Amino acid sequence: MAYVIVDTCIDCKDASCVACCPVDCIYEGPRTFYIHPDECIDCGICVSVCPPEAIWEDAEVPKHLTHFIAINKEFFSDAVTGLGSPAGASSVGAALRDHPVVAATARAPTRQA
Ligand code: SF4
Ligand code: SF4
Repeated sequence: MAYVIVDTCIDCKDASCVACCPVDCIYEGPRTFYIHPDECIDCGICVSVCPPEAIWEDAEVPKHLTHFIAINKEFFSDAVTGLGSPAGASSVGAALRDHPVVAATARAPTRQA
């Protein structure tokens, strides 16, 4: 089990979750953050600090968003970033690429003044 970040984090990136994670397992991409499925200790602390409610326990992810379980995992694979299991997001900094599904997500229209 692990916690998972879903679509409402994309282009939000408030980062409150990063500051409160006791094991530093929330990694940054250009448009969103990703939770490392093997490094997350399932404490649930990050859920309450996320303004757009983007963090879910994997077993509880709404049906239409379950593909984000694979997205969080695949972000660390050789096919995306090749990060593997660095055991700490602060030591690697922000990745240069997002998962392709996130990268292809349409941006919200900017507000007219
Ligand atoms: S607190 Fe929520 S919206 Fe902010 S970076 Fe974390 S997951 Fe994304
Ligand atoms: S559930 Fe806990 S360990 Fe997992 S990402 Fe959230 S704060 Fe970090």
